[in-house]
Formats: sequence, structure tokens, C-alpha cells
Amino acid sequence: MLIDKYTFGVGDRFTKEGEAQLEAIQELNDRGIPVAPVWNKSYREHTIIRTNHSSVAKEAADAVAAKGWKGNYYVDADHISLKIVDEFIDYSNFFTIDVAHFIGQAADAGSREEFVKRHSKYMGKMSIPGIDEEFDVTNEFLAKVADNYLLAIQDVKKIYDHICSKKGKENFIPEVSMDECEIAQSPIELFFILAELKAQGVEVQTIAPKFTGLFAKGVDYIGDIEGFAKEFEQDVAVCQFAKKELSLPASLKLSVHSGSDKFSIYPAIKNAIIRFDAGIHVKTAGTTWLEEVIGLAEAGGVGLEIAKKIFSGSMARYDELTEPYATVLNIDKSELPTVDEVNKYTSEQFTKALIHDQSCADYNPSFRQLIHVGYKIAVELGDEFRIALEEFRDVIAKNVKYNILNRHLLLLFSKK
Ligand SMILES: [Zn+2]
Repeated sequence: MLIDKYTFGVGDRFTKEGEAQLEAIQELNDRGIPVAPVWNKSYREHTIIRTNHSSVAKEAADAVAAKGWKGNYYVDADHISLKIVDEFIDYSNFFTIDVAHFIGQAADAGSREEFVKRHSKYMGKMSIPGIDEEFDVTNEFLAKVADNYLLAIQDVKKIYDHICSKKGKENFIPEVSMDECEIAQSPIELFFILAELKAQGVEVQTIAPKFTGLFAKGVDYIGDIEGFAKEFEQDVAVCQFAKKELSLPASLKLSVHSGSDKFSIYPAIKNAIIRFDAGIHVKTAGTTWLEEVIGLAEAGGVGLEIAKKIFSGSMARYDELTEPYATVLNIDKSELPTVDEVNKYTSEQFTKALIHDQSCADYNPSFRQLIHVGYKIAVELGDEFRIALEEFRDVIAKNVKYNILNRHLLLLFSKK
């Protein structure tokens, strides 16, 4: 099983938007750009919402049946570890193996020595097609890569073998994710991570490095855009080179996590994949939940009241809700409106503050990020929220589809 060249991660917290999401992807395909959907939901979200892993698989299958989707589609066991992988086995055909927590911890001395020996043929000046500069590969450099990544790779191997034994090697897409760690991986480090995965027998198809800069939830990229462009292009060059050099699967590609809303780096991503004729996976999810709140606020009446309750509830429990996402939020508390102010908002005021339109003077990224993590409040509203999702289906679905198609897919993939 080889993954499609272009894939886009959808999925949503309450598993209601499968059809609207698929419609956006379908429309892109109708325009001659083949992109396949990947429904994903993390263990963290499942725990907070108290949903079962089967619900994502069902959402995907129902959407595919309802819309008559004929292409491939995937259900992603997102950020799994050995401890929780079993719960996902029956429902997923894409596994994001997360070993970020092992990065920076050294493996035993013997395996470290073997690692250096195994890759010593690359020592000296190393050049990679498509990258102007040469890389100095020294004994010390290889030892440092081993110290930072070998233990993590050994853990990938354990999880990968476990999934293979349960599902069969041919029946799933393995992704390796390192994005939720402190230090970004350099392109040349990425090459040796891929080389070691291959040496350990892991047929990785997508890899999510940590890139330089902050990929905060629901807002634009924060960091050096030109620096990112250079690093990303080199990462793509490394993947293309690694496929031939290491006989990795032809489908191997980069995966960009927290990829929704990173409008300022989409041109760099698009240019690099065009230049190298490379594939890409862009993972999003949280962004759809915000479209649900936007739809409710736009609907007015009861819908707007629920949107306001989500905001006031989130303000009241700020620390609790932001804590699990501390490293991926960039909220300026002084920019947040008060509950009293928001309670007086019209539909237009609420949606203008929340919709990710940087050209709008009323757009408020801090407001948006707080609502982003406020889904627990919606969970606790229970039926009130779920019924509203049905009652205001049309306006919500319109926003979900527009956001994915016009603010994401077309910017990333359109040929113009
Ligand atoms: Zn991630």
C-alpha cells in the first residue's frame, strides 16, 4: 500500500463534518488536482471528547458512501505510542508513530557505535542533488545524530513491527512524527534519520520533522519565512534523494503537522513540491471545529448564544484548557475581549473576530486560539451543542467547505 502523492488531513472533533470536508476535496479533484483525504484525530482529542476510535473510521466511511468518493482515503491513528496503538489497530490504515519524547535521549553505547559505523560511508563532504551547499559529515556529527535520534528510531521500530504483526506490512501507511519536540531537525539530520529507519527495516512513507519556527494552533506561521523556505526546500530535496539512495518507498514524502492556517508559508511549500515534483501531506484538524463555531455565530439566535457560551466558558477555565497545548499556543491575554464585551457581540462582530482573515481589522488571533482549545466547553454543553450542529447544518457545512477549499487546498495545490 503506497500513499497518494498529495494528501490532506481532515477529521474533526465531533465527527460531524466528514461530508463537508470531502466535498472540498472532491471539488479540487474535479478541477484536475488529485488530493486524497486523511481523517485524523489524536488520542488527546479522543480523551477530552470521550469518543471512540471507531467513530473516525465511521465518519470517513459514511462520508465516502454519501458522496460517492471513488479514490483512496485514509484513517490516521494520530500521534500514537506503543502504549495506545492497539486501540487504533482495527480502525486505521495510516499510523502516525510519535517518538518525539525519546528525542535527545541517548541510546546505549554499543548501538551508537554501530550507527556511526553503518553510516560512515557518507563521511566527508556530502552533496545532495538540488542543494547548493555541501554538508560536513564527521564522526562527531554522526555520533550526535545517534545521541539525539537513535533511541527514538529504535522505538519507531518496536511500534512499526507491532503494527506489522497485527495488520500486515502491506495494509497501512507508516508515518514517523518528530514535530512535537523542542529542537528542529536539520535537513542533513533528516537524511540520517531516514537512513537509519531503512537500516532498521522501517518502510516509512511520510515523515513529519519539526521545522524551525512556531506552528501554533489555528493561526499563521510565526517565524522567519525565508529561513523556513530554505529549510523546507532542502528537506524535500533530502526526501527525493533518500528514496533513490536508500531504496525507500517511492511514495516517501514530508508531512506538515499543524499545517492548517499557515498561509504565509504555503507559497514556499507549493514552490518546493513543484520544483522537486514531490508529494506532500498536510495535516489539519482543529480548524474545522472553529468553522463550526463560526457557523453557529453566523446563524445568530441560539447558535450565537452557544458560541458566546463557548467563549465565556473558555475564559473562566483558561488555565485548564490552554495547559495541554502550552507549547503550540501564542495567546496575548491583553488582546482578549472581556466576556461582557463578547456577550454584546452581533453575529458579524463574533465571526469577524474569529475568521482567519488577516486583512480584516477585527480579526483577533488570541480570541481565535482560545476558542480553538475551548472545545471541551462544547463537549460539556452536550446535547445543546450537538443539536445545534444539526439545526444549523447548512451554514456550518458551508463554512467548513469554504475554509478547506479556499483557504487551504487552493493555496497549496492550485496550478496557477
Ligand atoms: Zn504532530
